[in-house]
Amino acid sequence: MTGSMRGPAQARVTISSRCRDPSCRGRLRMSITRPGTDSTQCPRCGAPFQIDADAELAETGRVRGCTVCEGGEFFIRKDFPQRLGLLLVIVFAVVASVFYFQERIVATFATLAALVVIDAMIYLFVARVTVCYRCRAEYRGVAYNPGHASFDLATSEKYDSASRG
Ligand SMILES: [Zn+2]
Ligand SMILES: [Zn+2]
Repeated sequence: MTGSMRGPAQARVTISSRCRDPSCRGRLRMSITRPGTDSTQCPRCGAPFQIDADAELAETGRVRGCTVCEGGEFFIRKDFPQRLGLLLVIVFAVVASVFYFQERIVATFATLAALVVIDAMIYLFVARVTVCYRCRAEYRGVAYNPGHASFDLATSEKYDSASRG
């Protein structure tokens, strides 16, 4: 939101999470400026919210464990609304099929090619978010971690059943 000028050595990680109160689920946002515990309040219900950042996260921006729930598994997703992405695909598919039924084959392929280009642009330029499987806290501005992959349903279900039981 704010113009964040990031120094070369100083990582600036922001965490966004949900209120622990299941009837509230207000959005909380914190940035990590130093190692150790830090606390804030839920903007909706005022419940206290605490995180515990290790030195590695504060200094290098590398996520090892979740500061909110101590979960250790994360996935990476693009910081781009999935619904908007889906809408783009639908709009382009409709336009392409209109061209197709008008037998404007060049226009059909140009439309599909444009979609591929847009998809590639999103892939290249949209920032990535690291998300905790267990509590769905989102970490922005973190260092790339090769141990984190994209969303895996089996891993996610493992945490779903654990929280139910
Ligand atoms: Zn709350
Ligand atoms: Zn977590």
